[in-house]
Amino acid sequence: MVPLKLKPAFKDYIWGGNRLVQLFGMESPYDKTAEAWVLSCHPDGENVIQNGTFAGRTLSDVLQNEGKAWLGTHGSAFSFFPVLIKLIDAKDNLSVQVHPSDDYALQNENQYGKTEAWYILDCDDDAEIIYGVNRDLTKEQFRAAIENNTLLDCVNRVKVKPGDLFFIASGTLHAICKGILLAEVQQNSNVTYRVYDYGRLQNGKPRELHIEKALDVTNLCAIDCSGKPLGKPETKDGNTETLLTQCDLFTVHRLNVAQQATVTADETSFVSLVAIDGNGVLTHGDTVLTLYKGESIFLPAGLGDVEILGNVSLLVTTV
Ligand SMILES: [Zn+2]
Repeated sequence: MVPLKLKPAFKDYIWGGNRLVQLFGMESPYDKTAEAWVLSCHPDGENVIQNGTFAGRTLSDVLQNEGKAWLGTHGSAFSFFPVLIKLIDAKDNLSVQVHPSDDYALQNENQYGKTEAWYILDCDDDAEIIYGVNRDLTKEQFRAAIENNTLLDCVNRVKVKPGDLFFIASGTLHAICKGILLAEVQQNSNVTYRVYDYGRLQNGKPRELHIEKALDVTNLCAIDCSGKPLGKPETKDGNTETLLTQCDLFTVHRLNVAQQATVTADETSFVSLVAIDGNGVLTHGDTVLTLYKGESIFLPAGLGDVEILGNVSLLVTTV
């Protein structure tokens, strides 16, 4: 069992930019890169392993062969690989959208629903997101707002800054708006119901909307949000760790390594490490892997301790 360096899958959606290439040095094949899927077993964008005896194979293929032990006792309780982690560069606004719950998605889409968390890495000064509705709406009012083009009057627009964390439960209407670079940890699902797309055209046509399904799943009660990570920064051995978010689906910390740190993959869960700033090197036995900004390493459950040297900030995700 060794740590696995993952090659991301890229997406060139119409709203993407070039910061993942320029700021993260990622090797995207596209002019505009909207998303890099840095931990993915999803058939829409599989990660390929870059090191060791598994080099060239997809992570999902290897996990299938190695059995559920590599997912850990928590991870193996899910019937599919549980999470998908992306870096997202929104040069333009994403559509206003909503994701279904597990119950609805498993019944209607044969996938998990999607609860997601956004960690803001970088953004323009005036950048904002759309998060939930700002008043209680009936289904009829929601439908009318979509049809009359007044939906944006009924949503919360929340200013964001680097370090903010937004937890988006399934059913919450949301959009990442222009000028935001973020990391997203989400359930392993690609089910999105698009509600409003600013009247944009792609190849001369509007993109499809999914209004009926959105009416089924959207939470139409007014909600608030703060953008505060769940925990306070805690310093230990010169390194700083912050609990960003935690739910029954995933737990995400930010770990700032000043010089040296140990990360442990115990029997309960695999560990995903995604470098979001700085540069480091990870060592486990004979395996030595770089952890440059944008790089992603998967530690199988039960791997034990790995050592990280360098000055690097990591998103550490477990289930
Ligand atoms: Zn979403």
